[in-house]
Amino acid sequence: MAKRLRALPVSIRHAARAAAYIREYLFPANCPICGGELLDAGEAWYGLCRPCSDALVISDEGRCVSCGRPLISEQGRCLQCRGGDGHIFDGAYSIFPYTGKYRKLLRAYKFGKTLSLGNFLAERILDALEKLPIAASEGALVPVPPRPGKIRKAGWDQVACLGARLEKMGQPVYPCLKRLPSKSQKELDKADRKTNLMGKILCAKPAPKTVILFDDVITTGATLDACAAALKGAGAERVFGVCLFYD
Ligand SMILES: [Zn+2]
Ligand SMILES: [Zn+2]
Repeated sequence: MAKRLRALPVSIRHAARAAAYIREYLFPANCPICGGELLDAGEAWYGLCRPCSDALVISDEGRCVSCGRPLISEQGRCLQCRGGDGHIFDGAYSIFPYTGKYRKLLRAYKFGKTLSLGNFLAERILDALEKLPIAASEGALVPVPPRPGKIRKAGWDQVACLGARLEKMGQPVYPCLKRLPSKSQKELDKADRKTNLMGKILCAKPAPKTVILFDDVITTGATLDACAAALKGAGAERVFGVCLFYD
């Protein structure tokens, strides 16, 4: 929690929190998990009440060596990461399950547009960088680009918004990927997801040597693979990923 707004001087940090509180007072969004009021500037800043945010605890024990989601009865790799040729990305960490209270969190951010939750989620991305096998300073943070039609429908790019918050927190972001129109991955099975995006994600600038992709949800890892293929085709040597939720 202490990392938020670390890059800003103290007086600006206080002003930003106070502004979040005034906004919450005038246009209450309430806590998306319990529905309770947000009672102070800290809660308003995160868009979550303190008891709910404190209860969003995850364990690092027994994670898939490829995508970083928790293993259930498997050893080493999770079921999503088994079979085929493995992943093109070199490793990832996935934070919250996309179920229950965690699902409420993403839905409130993504569909309810509770923007203050971006402060909470961006901090979780910073925490997750420490779980990767490389130092965060070694890699360039690259947002996974959304499907063009998806932005039109939803009206905003929530991953790019997280990127803007990460930058404010002092973590540079390098948006170098572009996505061409394609079918939504959600409509496809595992095999089709793997081929649907290949060649549909392009690296529009020279790729950094080491990249850390970030995205909201990982399912089969096909989107991270398509991004990693584009980046490696443009010169990247290693590509890691951080995903807020795993489905
Ligand atoms: Zn709550
Ligand atoms: Zn996995």
